[in-house]
Amino acid sequence: MRRETAAVHVGVAKDTAYNSVITPIYPSSTFCFDRVGENKGYDYTRSGNPTRTALEENLAALEGAGFARCTCTGMAAIVAVLFLLRQGDHVVAGHDIYGGTYRLFETLFPRFGVSFSFVDMCDESAVRSALRPETRMLWIETPSNPLLNIVDIAAMVAIAREHDVLTVADNTFLSPYFQRPLDLGVDVVLHSTTKYLNGHSDVVGGVVMATRADLVDRLGFIVNAMGLANSPFDAWLVLRGVKTLGPRMEAHQRGALALAAFLDGHPRVRRVYYPGLPHHPGHELAQRQQSGFGGMLSFDLDIEALDPDTFFGRLRYFSLAESLGGVESLIEQPWTMSHAGMGEEARRAAGISPGTMRVSVGIEHPDDLVEDMEQALR
Ligand SMILES: *Cc1c(COP(=O)(O)O)cnc(C)c1O
Repeated sequence: MRRETAAVHVGVAKDTAYNSVITPIYPSSTFCFDRVGENKGYDYTRSGNPTRTALEENLAALEGAGFARCTCTGMAAIVAVLFLLRQGDHVVAGHDIYGGTYRLFETLFPRFGVSFSFVDMCDESAVRSALRPETRMLWIETPSNPLLNIVDIAAMVAIAREHDVLTVADNTFLSPYFQRPLDLGVDVVLHSTTKYLNGHSDVVGGVVMATRADLVDRLGFIVNAMGLANSPFDAWLVLRGVKTLGPRMEAHQRGALALAAFLDGHPRVRRVYYPGLPHHPGHELAQRQQSGFGGMLSFDLDIEALDPDTFFGRLRYFSLAESLGGVESLIEQPWTMSHAGMGEEARRAAGISPGTMRVSVGIEHPDDLVEDMEQALR
């Protein structure tokens, strides 16, 4: 089954009573036993729920995973993965990862004796020299956030295997439609389903996926024991959204390619970061390891010539908002918004400046998006 077909068909047929075409929402917190030790596969919704199972089967099929557990947010999926670790363990992560992930790594987990090193993951020697005897996890996010650097997933997996280190990939930015890290040897993949998988900016959620039996067992245990699973209502919304993942991703990419081409070389734009542009440093790698360039792009606005607030105020189709992956276009300033929690020095080290603008390109007509950007920059 191809991706577009799997997105529509896998997992959805759960109604044996009436054969409804879509998956019903089963909000029941608990399920009756037929007799002691015998039920219909569900006992309590934190542990398992038919609507959530439908989504988990669907997402596992898309990602090529043996197993998926849907969580209440993307951060909950990240927490679940971090609980694979124990006191004394060390993690190597990219220095330009999602701001919320960075905050969690910087503030909460060190209290429990887990330490983190942040490196430029495009530099293999930097990754190698960050490894310690107690390193247990390599945290990959590609394309990175907000500058869309491309990390060589297969190279990271090779380094990790030499040192018996677990690899984790946050695949939120491309979705399984454009990138499947498990196929490249990664051990655990996670998403914020809030973004492209749901795609309609109307629910928050996450998912954690793996194929190796020991990881599947441990992650399933963690999600249940810690109470991280998502609600049946939320699972149902994501299941509705994911059915159009393919057409949406194609439309996001069409708009991003048009916008990147327009911004590239514009007198008020200093630099454009989009892996689909031939001069992007990760262009060839992206062509090799991804099946598309995605719908996210960033650019450095000349803020001496154009005040960001004036620019944002003129835009008609790009709302000033965090988040990404919805059908509507959004723009934000990582310096004050998505990456504000990072500390100035860390932001500068990651290449983020006050002029850096991150765009989540929606599925509007590319000509409208380009015309809107054109008048706002004029
Ligand atoms: C949004 C996001 C998260 C966090 O997900 P939430 O659903 O907001 O908790 C994690 N990683 C990436 C790359 C994201 O974009």
